[in-house]
Formats: sequence, C-alpha cells, structure tokens
Amino acid sequence: MHFTQSSKIPNIYYRPEQTLCPSCNLPLKRDHILWHKQVIFSTGAKNLVNWAYRCPKITYPGSKKIFKSLKADAVHLKYRRFSRELVARIGYQHFWHHRTMYEIYDWLINDLHLKISAREVA
Ligand SMILES: [Zn+2]
Repeated sequence: MHFTQSSKIPNIYYRPEQTLCPSCNLPLKRDHILWHKQVIFSTGAKNLVNWAYRCPKITYPGSKKIFKSLKADAVHLKYRRFSRELVARIGYQHFWHHRTMYEIYDWLINDLHLKISAREVA
C-alpha cells in the first residue's frame, strides 16, 4: 500500500506576509511557485503551495528580489511528510498508551482515516 494521490486533497496557498513592495509601495505581483509539497495532518493530507511574489515594476532596480511567506518556510523546514501535530499525536499514542507501531497504524487508518503505509508510520 502506498500513499494515494487524490485530487480531493485541498490546496493551502501561502503568500508573503508583506503585500506591498518596500521600494515603490505597489502591491507585489504573484510570480512563480517556489515549492509545493504534500503534508499529512491528523485531519488528512494537504497540498502546501508557496508562491513567490515580486515587485510589479519589472525594470525597477531590485525587482528581481523575491518575496515569500516566512510562515511557509517555517512549515517547510519543520514538516516532512507528516505535520508536527500528527507526529506529536503518534508519539502520545506510543508513549502514553504503549501502543505498538501496528496498533498506531490501525488507529491512523481506522480512526483518523488516513491513507498511509505502515512503513511510513515506523
Ligand atoms: Zn517595487
């Protein structure tokens, strides 16, 4: 069994916290996707999409500077395939309820309805 690629997975878009160019004060323009990744939260999988923005004045000096979401970068660094919140919940099950990996896997599949493999849990 492996992770199901579903079109029903919601997209979460990140954009820079800053909306105006610090040089010309014009609204920043959406430029390209910096990265996108799928992260599994205890509520299910989400596609995180981080957009890079830049100054709308293309010829303006410094317009090549890219603005991006700091929050998204923090998410990118912290989370791998699983959200920190889900990892914490798995750890809780493991240490406090002394559940085996198999029991945790069962809990994730049947109680949280996540489509993940036993290998991923381990
Ligand atoms: Zn500008």
